Parts: sequence; structure tokens; C-alpha cells
Amino acid sequence: MDCLFCKIIEGSIPSKKVFENDRVLAFHDIQPAAPVHILIIPKKHIPTMNDVTEEDDALMAEIFSVARHIAKEQGIDESGYRLVNNCNAEGGQVVYHLHLHLLGGHQMKSLAG
Ligand code: 5GP
Ligand code: ZN
Repeated sequence: MDCLFCKIIEGSIPSKKVFENDRVLAFHDIQPAAPVHILIIPKKHIPTMNDVTEEDDALMAEIFSVARHIAKEQGIDESGYRLVNNCNAEGGQVVYHLHLHLLGGHQMKSLAG
């Protein structure tokens, strides 16, 4: 499949992995937007948040669980972090394989302005 993140999962494109099990992979973003910028992805190819179904409930819960685990491991659980999913064009999605951005390590602005 012509998907960048599927290629990272299968290993044909290298990545700096921080977590992996049979269902979930997490790796450092190649162009970090914060001191900590890690991408958390399901190994199942789900293009966007719109494509998630009830069948994926356990997988989605696991992705959030992995995010909590990594935030703690990175030492940003108490200082704080942001979890972001970009969906489709206006959401700024570039890679069409569902992913959560885990961002932290510096002060972020409130979205409320
Ligand atoms: P999106 O805009 O789709 O939510 O986020 C895609 C993210 O993937 C971007 O933050 C981008 O820097 C990251 N990215 C793109 N290509 C690669 C790559 O080859 N390796 C890694 N580790 N990250 C990538
Ligand atoms: Zn994929």
C-alpha cells in the first residue's frame, strides 16, 4: 500500500521508535513542532478520524493509553502536553493514516487565545 506510515510500520522507511506492540506504534516526528513531538498510530490502516468505526473502540482506547504511557516516560505528564488529530484538508492532515500528535516540553498557547 502506498502509505508512508504503513511503510514505517513494515520497516521499509526507518523511524525513531518509542513504543511498539502488535497494534500500536509510536515514533518521533521527523519535523518536531515542540521539544517532544511523537506520533502515535494504529498498525491498522485507517485513513482519517472519519473512518474510525465502533469496531475500533478498543484500538482507540489503546492509542490514548499509549499516549499517557509515553507522556509519563517523556516526563511531560505533570508539566502538560497536547494530543492532536488533524482530519482531512482543512484540518491540516498531510499523511492519510490516522495518527495522534503528542506535543509537549514547552508552554503552548491556549486555543481560546
Ligand atoms: P499530519 O499533518 O498528517 O497530521 O501530520 C503528519 C506528520 O508526519 C507531520 O508532523 C510530519 O512532520 C510527519 N512526517 C512526515 N513524514 C515523516 C517521516 O518520514 N517520518 C516521520 N517520523 N515523520 C514524518
Ligand atoms: Zn497506512
